[in-house]
Amino acid sequence: TVATIGSSLIPVINKLHDILASSGTELSDISVPQVAVVGSQSSGKSSVLEALVGRDFLPRGCDICTRRPLVLMLENRSPNSDDDRIEWGEFRHLPGRRFYDFSQIRREIQAETEREAGCNKGVSEKQIRLKISSPNVLNMTLIDLPGITKVPVGDQPSDIEARIRRMIMAHINNENCIILAVSPANSDLATSDALQIAKLADPTGSRTVGVITKLDIMDRGTNACNFLLGKVVPLKLGYVGVVNRCQEDINKNRSIQEALAYEEQFFHDHPVYNSVSNHCGIPQLAKKLNQILEQHIRKDLPRLKAVLNSRMHAAMKELQTYGDVVESKAEQGAALLHILRRYCDDFSAMVDGKSPDMSTK
Ligand code: GDP
Ligand code: MG
Repeated sequence: TVATIGSSLIPVINKLHDILASSGTELSDISVPQVAVVGSQSSGKSSVLEALVGRDFLPRGCDICTRRPLVLMLENRSPNSDDDRIEWGEFRHLPGRRFYDFSQIRREIQAETEREAGCNKGVSEKQIRLKISSPNVLNMTLIDLPGITKVPVGDQPSDIEARIRRMIMAHINNENCIILAVSPANSDLATSDALQIAKLADPTGSRTVGVITKLDIMDRGTNACNFLLGKVVPLKLGYVGVVNRCQEDINKNRSIQEALAYEEQFFHDHPVYNSVSNHCGIPQLAKKLNQILEQHIRKDLPRLKAVLNSRMHAAMKELQTYGDVVESKAEQGAALLHILRRYCDDFSAMVDGKSPDMSTK
């Protein structure tokens, strides 16, 4: 499974993200770090995410499969806790229900997609939120997004391309979002949709990681080496090339572990890629992402702290306007008596037209 690089910071941020979302707080006010995948349809976005998680659970294929934004909160559990080895997923729309069977998670993603976006290739901007708790994942929040498509099919509206672009931009415009720009190596990399849309949100290329998929099916005699080294479209965070499962592997239920072993062998045996091995493979991508996220969080902590402090201040002020808090039964009784007495006083004063001093005090 993908190597885990421990970090105590990121689970805290993930939790914060979770609480804010459930309390209905605008996430645009308090933005916490996340990673989103962008690219054209079938470029391999879901495959990359799945490989990073190390489990099969995302709808994948040559058609449009990802039709709603899927927010994946990966939470690393220490391997020496009691229920070691058990991995589970929990959906925001089904609180309290743990899914231990990952093929059932895939079915629920599909069912929930259909509930909102219909059965005929429609898309919806409403997020599906899924938490995955496992000793085998890196601590991070990943967002799988529908791919850029040009021609409407099925129930898709005529402005499908604009809609999907807006949906993508809404997620990646956030300065705290790290963009994984996924481009397939078997198409022209220089005109990649992924790099183009990433550049709109991140013009300086400071929070975009380039991912080149399908290195195994490039035109024979060509390779993506110059691209991986950033010589074609430079990105400050660089590029990683990967080999994921092809459709036949998926049809034959080839496991992620097998696929990772195959990928490792592929890069090891390759005459060109073996000299740029720090730019190759899912484990390299996972390592790079976790390092970037940690740096990012550290840099953002003072700002996050200031925002939370001012929120807390405002909440305390509001609380004070509700009066003192009473906790014990005796205190509650006394407070109630006090209110009743004041009520009686005012009431008798009003009825008698006398001063409240005349009442029982
Ligand atoms: P998405 O639409 O961008 O999420 O793409 P998917 O992950 O659903 O993949 C689309 C198709 O490309 C699937 O049939 C995958 O099996 C195939 N695919 C993805 N990555 C690779 C790769 O690195 N090599 C090969 N040969 N096929 C891949
Ligand atoms: Mg997908």
